[in-house]
Amino acid sequence: MSEHPEHPEHYDYVVVGCGSIGSMALWQLTERAPDARILGLERFGRIHTKGSYSGESRLFRVALKEGGIYIPLVQRAREMWLELNKRTGRDVFLPIGAVSVAPADFATMRQTMEVIAEHDLEHEVLDATELAGRYPAFAAPAPGASPDVAIVDPAGGGIRPELAVALSQQLALDAGAELRDHTRVLAIEPGEGPDGSTFIRLSRQDGTVGTVMADKVIVANGSWAADLYPDLAEHISVQAIPLTWYLPLEITDFLPENLPIFMRDVTTSTGEVWHCYGAPSLDGYSVKISHGDFAGGASTPDGIEELRTGVLPEILTTLFAERTSAFFDGMLDDPVRLTIHHDGFTADHVPVLGLAPGSDGVVTVATGMSGNGMKFAPVYGRIAADLAVDGTSPLRPDSFDYPTTARRSAADVT
Ligand SMILES: Cc1cc2nc3c(=O)[nH]c(=O)nc-3n(C[C@H](O)[C@H](O)[C@H](O)COP(=O)(O)OP(=O)(O)OC[C@H]3O[C@@H](n4cnc5c(N)ncnc54)[C@H](O)[C@@H]3O)c2cc1C
Repeated sequence: MSEHPEHPEHYDYVVVGCGSIGSMALWQLTERAPDARILGLERFGRIHTKGSYSGESRLFRVALKEGGIYIPLVQRAREMWLELNKRTGRDVFLPIGAVSVAPADFATMRQTMEVIAEHDLEHEVLDATELAGRYPAFAAPAPGASPDVAIVDPAGGGIRPELAVALSQQLALDAGAELRDHTRVLAIEPGEGPDGSTFIRLSRQDGTVGTVMADKVIVANGSWAADLYPDLAEHISVQAIPLTWYLPLEITDFLPENLPIFMRDVTTSTGEVWHCYGAPSLDGYSVKISHGDFAGGASTPDGIEELRTGVLPEILTTLFAERTSAFFDGMLDDPVRLTIHHDGFTADHVPVLGLAPGSDGVVTVATGMSGNGMKFAPVYGRIAADLAVDGTSPLRPDSFDYPTTARRSAADVT
């Protein structure tokens, strides 16, 4: 062992897991507590493909059909994304707008319009002809009986998730924080250290183990939440989310200057509803079009790893082939890229972002991002930093509490 177990290093704040939320928490801690000793611990590389954030792009929208508490949060997040762009001089957030396309009578369209009205959000509504004129990628008529309408959300856009993680880590490092990658946290023991501090037990890539001490800890270990808090296993299910990229023969209509990030629902002649979401071409030849109605398949991140190497990619390729041509004309049927990822989902899809019970305010847990965490990542990082520094955050809704009783399922949430 390379460390003296009787003299573990002492930090004011330790962040466990430096992915989407953890990297933002690290950055925000350096803003909230500039003189503090801050350490990030990451199980894999500084950037890696094993977590919930890989896959080139993420969708950002302000006009979220969920409405309510999420609107002020996402508006604050947008300001922070723009700040990240400015501070780093990079296009982490692409302010190219968002468009939702579906038949006018679709519940999601109605809900979105209600949220827009309630929060007085900037928007435009386009009919099918206007949509095809503005964004020619949508020129193909909807396959179902009712014509499309589109809601344009000009404050929407795209996020480059790997860059977001790397650059928020970098801002923290530049401000004096430390980051140890390939370092896996094995256990958090609040109050077990000298003067009531917390022991954090860890193992390194070379097999050595060690301990650091912290006054406050933020746990942001994503889909691995139950590794450190086994009681969370009954509140958070790990689900697989595949992403697919397709190749149009003619790329112009799919470039970011001609296509915002998008969501589209179509009804087939048999009444089935197909949902897709995606982003314009960022590599100049392929378009991310992902099919929203597949989730599930595994209950641990390791299980997802098995899905990746099994028959699932082949099954998905066949399943989605017919669908992609229903959404867009001129796409080759088979994907040029298919990747399988995961995220932790709570029953009501409300994240966990609160103090861990029994930790006496020492441990903040941020997990269960339920397929939605990237757009909120900077503001969730800020809330985590607030909780660590002050024990409370003016930005945090009470519904984000660490779950101690079963939450309602998303279907029950109105
Ligand atoms: C395919 C896909 C598409 C998505 N699309 C969107 C979208 O368009 N818009 C949107 O807003 N959201 C989207 N999401 C959701 C969003 O990406 C996730 O909610 C978010 O990335 C989750 O962040 P996280 O910090 O909880 O997890 P992660 O980003 O996975 O970070 C967790 C980190 O903890 C580390 N870790 C785990 N265990 C330990 C340990 N014991 N010790 C140290 N480190 C540890 C991991 O290595 C990882 O780096 C999508 C998700 C997926 C999978």
